[in-house]
Amino acid sequence: MIIIMSDTEIIQGKVKTVFTTDEPDVVLIQYEDKVTAGNGRHVDFPEGKGKVCMEISEFLFKKLEKSGIKTHYIDTFPERIMSCKKVDIIPIEVVVRNVAAGSIVRQTTLEEGKIFDEPLVEYFLKDDDKDDPLLTQDRINLMGYGNEIRTLSFHARAINAILKGIFEEIGLTLVDFKLEFGYDSRQNLLLADELSPDGMRLWKEGKSFDKDLFRKGKGDIVESYKYILTELRKLSEQ
Ligand code: C5P
Repeated sequence: MIIIMSDTEIIQGKVKTVFTTDEPDVVLIQYEDKVTAGNGRHVDFPEGKGKVCMEISEFLFKKLEKSGIKTHYIDTFPERIMSCKKVDIIPIEVVVRNVAAGSIVRQTTLEEGKIFDEPLVEYFLKDDDKDDPLLTQDRINLMGYGNEIRTLSFHARAINAILKGIFEEIGLTLVDFKLEFGYDSRQNLLLADELSPDGMRLWKEGKSFDKDLFRKGKGDIVESYKYILTELRKLSEQ
């Protein structure tokens, strides 16, 4: 059993709270009933959102582990709590894109919906105060992460192939998604953070089933996320 100590350290993220435990290598991550967009400028508190995000993350982490991807996932508990291996997060957000949408459309001449021949892997600084800017290879080298980036790219592409296949099976196109990685105490590189429609774009017949519904005020995210979870769970039963 894991115990949250009275001197527990609490790290408050935008939609998750991380608690240290009596085990130095284990943290508890509580998924909040909260959604934010525009780097925290738009906020809402939809009931049931934390639970569905945690359960989708659990499903996908388990699927990735079965395919040989090392993740921080350990277990889930009531009250939207997931136990995870403690990692030092690499301050680089890895975004994989299969189809043009979002910032790449805003910042380039590419039109929304363009399907890429090969997945595009991009890197953003993980720093809300600086608005998570897009990084160049030279900047990454200067930051001292030049070697890591090759490994991150390799893992991100492998994860993309697995996730794309899973979502295809339930009729959804994995447009893009964000990954975060970190090192555990033994310097193993692990996939961290969460894997839910909060950090991905998923399309079906021209409709979004992800956080764009909230960003654009176009629908109920909890309903869409629950639909995804139900469809994913049907896969396990097959
Ligand atoms: O905004 P952009 O189009 O670059 O986002 C690409 C993907 O990464 C989207 O699925 C978005 O939800 C996700 N993302 C994220 N957290 C960020 C930035 C992007 O989950 N801080």
